Amino acid sequence: MADSGFTAADKLADPAEISTAVVVGHIRPDADAIGSVCATVAVLRQRGIDATGVIGQREPIATNLYTIPGCADIQLVERLPEADLVVTVDCGDLGRTGTCAEGIGAHDRVLVIDHHSSNTGFGTVDVIDPAAESTTAILHRWFTASGDGIDRDVAHALYAGLVTDTGSFRWGGAGMHLLAADLIGRGVDTRAVAVDLMDATTPESLRIIGRVLAGVETHPDGPGMTVLTADHATITETNPETIESLTEFIRATGQGVGVLLKENLPGVWSVSFRSTDHDVASVATSLGGGGHLLAAGATVRGTRGTVLAAVRRAVGGHAHPYTPENDA
Ligand code: 5GP
Ligand code: MN
Repeated sequence: MADSGFTAADKLADPAEISTAVVVGHIRPDADAIGSVCATVAVLRQRGIDATGVIGQREPIATNLYTIPGCADIQLVERLPEADLVVTVDCGDLGRTGTCAEGIGAHDRVLVIDHHSSNTGFGTVDVIDPAAESTTAILHRWFTASGDGIDRDVAHALYAGLVTDTGSFRWGGAGMHLLAADLIGRGVDTRAVAVDLMDATTPESLRIIGRVLAGVETHPDGPGMTVLTADHATITETNPETIESLTEFIRATGQGVGVLLKENLPGVWSVSFRSTDHDVASVATSLGGGGHLLAAGATVRGTRGTVLAAVRRAVGGHAHPYTPENDA
């Protein structure tokens, strides 16, 4: 992506024209969403804009994300608060903004910053770079190009998105290491971040993870599927970070596609797709979701049986082999 998008972004967020901004991350946020919200709020405030960070859901967010500086100031909202400017970060489509979607759809000054390959753009200005390892990597380029100060707290927030979205630097280009070096140079405590966001667990979580893993199923559809299920009873028994950690087990099972079925509300399933060699963004998109080529998701309603049947059809019809040439 040409960095000229940043000039348009700066024009939209010009403090001479606007005084308030709301920064929206996606629902059921991860560290890239929260890191992006915190960093953007801090930098807009430095620019003299009265910025607030929000997530459009009522449910509490994962407690480990509160280790990211600024997270405690993020509001869980039932509708988009009034502001001159809306910035969405890490949201692949309008639906991912949750309860803010209606307000954003009607707003005339929306800046979309994202790295999902399925994002077709829904802002006044869209800065979308599917080659970026994390949304925080795009933000770092924007802030650097515009001469914003990146202090230790902002660096911590940017690093949180980078280290988690790259699977601890397992996938991504050389640029992610240069970016990490820059952020570490600004004082980020990388060991603490690793414990806070990736390593910390409890014996209770391990027991639940063990139970879900013991229920693993395989199906022959398309390139083959490995399926884990966390039903609603399991989800209410534990915390979001335990459930999210389950995706790490299904990426490379030797079957083409790993699937995690999460019944977040009775009859409402978040489906996570992971792969190392098949395009799962198309699978998720065919179910009304989206994401990256090798990590995507969708929300499907029904019983476990009907949801699994829909997932099997989607994987059978859409999980085409991934080649580096079609990786964006
Ligand atoms: P996860 O499986 O970790 O929830 O999400 C993997 C990727 O798919 C993320 O980049 C996420 O933004 C995207 N994703 C997950 N669920 C949905 C969904 O319901 N809709 C869309 N558009 N994207 C999703
Ligand atoms: Mn991301």
